[in-house]
This record gives sequence, C-alpha cells and structure tokens, in this order.
Amino acid sequence: MNKDQIAFGIDIGGTNTKMGIFDLEGKLLCFRTIPTAKSQDPELFIEQLAQESEHMLSSELNIKLGDARIVGVGAGAPMANYFTGAVEHAPNLGWKNVPLKKHFEKYFRCPAVIENDANLAAVGEKKWGSGKEFTDFILITLGTGVGAGLILNSKLYRGFNALGGEGGHVIIPHEKKRLCSCGGMNHLESYLSAKGIKETISELTHEDWTIEKLGSLFRAGDLKATAIINQIATELASGFVSIGVLFGPQAFVIGGGVSKLGDTFNQVVQKKMDELIHFSLKGKIKIVTATLSSEKGAVYGGAALIFDEASK
Ligand SMILES: [Zn+2]
Repeated sequence: MNKDQIAFGIDIGGTNTKMGIFDLEGKLLCFRTIPTAKSQDPELFIEQLAQESEHMLSSELNIKLGDARIVGVGAGAPMANYFTGAVEHAPNLGWKNVPLKKHFEKYFRCPAVIENDANLAAVGEKKWGSGKEFTDFILITLGTGVGAGLILNSKLYRGFNALGGEGGHVIIPHEKKRLCSCGGMNHLESYLSAKGIKETISELTHEDWTIEKLGSLFRAGDLKATAIINQIATELASGFVSIGVLFGPQAFVIGGGVSKLGDTFNQVVQKKMDELIHFSLKGKIKIVTATLSSEKGAVYGGAALIFDEASK
C-alpha cells in the first residue's frame, strides 16, 4: 500500500453524520459534521454526503472523488450488516432495506464497507488506539446506548450473520427492575446508557446532573457522587464479569461519552470486577479508556476497517 493513500471514515448517527478523511497512519486530515437527513430516500442522502466529500477533497487535499489515492469508505450506521451490505431496519433513521454499501460505492466511486458503530470503534482502537497492544479485547461504548465490539485473535468477531457482540444487552443481576430500550429487562444498557446513568443519579439525589458534574464531584470526594459511581461501577463490572468469563480478554476498553469519567472511574470498576469475577481471571483483565476521541471513535474505525480490507 502506498504511503500517500487515504480513506473515508463515516459515522451515520440518529442526529448527525460525521465524516473524516484519514491517512494510513490514522491522522485525521479533515472532518465535517452534517445533519442526518431522516428522509424516505437514503440514496439521496448518500449522494449529498458524496457532494460534501467532494468539497472536502478539493478544498483541503486538492483531489477529486475517483482519485487513485482513495482506498475506500468505511461507514458505520445503526443495524448496518457487514455481510449483506444493507441496513435491514433502522427505526431511528426511518430506513428499511437500504443497500447502503451499494449507494456508497456508486456515489463515492470507490470500494465501501458498512458496519455497526461499536464494531468500528473496536477496529479503530485495535489499529491506532488503546487496543494496539492486545490480541483479545472487548470495546464497550457507553453513550446514548451501550455497544460492544469484540476483537478476538486480533480480528473483529461478528457472529453468525453479524448478529453477535451485542454486549449492551447481557442481563445483569439487580435488585431493581429497569426496562432496556430494546424492550428487555435489566440489560447492561438499562443502567449504563446515558439515560440509565441519569436515572440512577436522579433516584439517588433527586437532582439532574450531567456526566461531567458527576465526574468532577466524584473526584472532589463528594459522598453522593461516590455512592453513584460505586453503584454504576458495580453494574458495569457485573456485565464485564459475564462477558469476561466467556472470552477471557486481556482488556475491556471503555469508549463513548461516559469514558470522560476517566481513570478514577476505571479503577473503581476494576476493583469491583476483580471482586466478582471467577478466580482464574482475578487481576488478569485490564480496564482502559479508549484513546481515539469519544465522539469520533467510529469515524476512525471506519477508515481503519477499509484500510485493513484493502491490504488483504
Ligand atoms: Zn436490551
């Protein structure tokens, strides 16, 4: 692969779509955020993205779509299926049976892969981030939802028909009952999504705190904040105990908005996990923070995935 090659990483979210252009070293050359059009015509939206990308290429790199330096597009979208290249049903976007890979290849005039965003974030961390040193790790994104990406034997594990790795929906033991966004009960996501954490904060304080406020009060030694951190750390550790005993990873890498709680939070989770986990794994699984930006993890991962595919 030539050193001057570049790739697109794109993350289509419910509200915004993020688009970055990267070089082979994982350096972000340019970046845009565009509102996601919730139309019945996803093809038109991909055409608009291609026009936007044409502006980025010409104004910042002085090249055009179709240039030989462009390796391809790696794109994340809700419910994106790597194997079929399609999004079967994404209620957040109002999309049904969208052949997303085909649309990208048509309008961007280069190879494309699609994938769910947590899987992409895991691939990005493996290539350029906290996962570089590990052959086996689980990336957990704690954001609007809770996602997981499994790197096993240095490769992304997708499960049959790309339906595996949904670590946000493991059931955790709990004295309470709380619904998950998927309709299930007491899933990891019920407690560790941004909404879940806010619910816990409001139950314990009757106040409305942001994650940042929780983090700074905790670091300042506030007793209520410490109680909240202990509770959510125990909930997260319970999930890690089940996932960890199954895969025996070297590490859990925490990404997403909640990763802003940082290393002090990780240490509490580490302690709880080591208390609860099977004796064979005590002290053996690290907990680290994702190093690619919490907002752009899937964008980095998209570029990492298409670079990896192109070098096969
Ligand atoms: Zn669920």
